[in-house]
Amino acid sequence: MELPKIPGTIKMKYSKPIPGKIISGTVSVENNKSYISITTEEMVQNKPKTGKIVGVDLGLKDVATLSTGFKTSKIQLKELDDKIKRHHQILSKKIKDGCNWCKVKGKLSQLYSDKKNKIQDKLNKLTTYIISEFDEVYVGDVNSQLGLKNKKLSKVTSDAHWYEIKKQLQYKAEWYGKKFEMVDEKYTSQTCHNCKHQFKELKLNIRTWTCSNCGTINDRDINAAVNIRTVGTTGIAFNKTSIS
Ligand SMILES: [Zn+2]
Repeated sequence: MELPKIPGTIKMKYSKPIPGKIISGTVSVENNKSYISITTEEMVQNKPKTGKIVGVDLGLKDVATLSTGFKTSKIQLKELDDKIKRHHQILSKKIKDGCNWCKVKGKLSQLYSDKKNKIQDKLNKLTTYIISEFDEVYVGDVNSQLGLKNKKLSKVTSDAHWYEIKKQLQYKAEWYGKKFEMVDEKYTSQTCHNCKHQFKELKLNIRTWTCSNCGTINDRDINAAVNIRTVGTTGIAFNKTSIS
């Protein structure tokens, strides 16, 4: 391929075929490595309709819980996190801006970039699965409940995951002809999906609770996801009831 300002042509090796027509390429340099990001134009075909609807509860313990009962556990990259920690320790013992310091610093940037890519890959797989499997996807607006009430708990990482999941679901729904909507998730955790009775004393550490009205054993996150689905399909948000 040809690049402006670089004489001659550059050999390109594809690790996988590039779909669509290449429109442009942007070259960037990071840690003495050159990267090229390519923009392509591709006709995206709608995914087949499945007739299924889902509610999604985004959480801290599990990244996403679906109203079907499917749970994506917390993204854990222990090995990479340990490596990052170790390299920070090594870095602290080097002379700042020295030769070895720069080497370790470069390695650290590479590790952070690997981590970012791995997370992105996991979230992409999750959102593609959801959009392929369901025609209508309703996600609880986390900020309407958890984010505001428990700032301490909503760690930066989870916030970033939630933001990314919502963003991906939004554009993938548009690409593939599916419906995506954010819904008000107020009282979706403490309202029994079976009889709408509210368990007002539901604390964050309670993962399972039995409804005192109908006896249903509710998994906290699945119950919330089922309620989010209800809010999405009816268009009516839950209210605080006077019954406790
Ligand atoms: Zn109940």
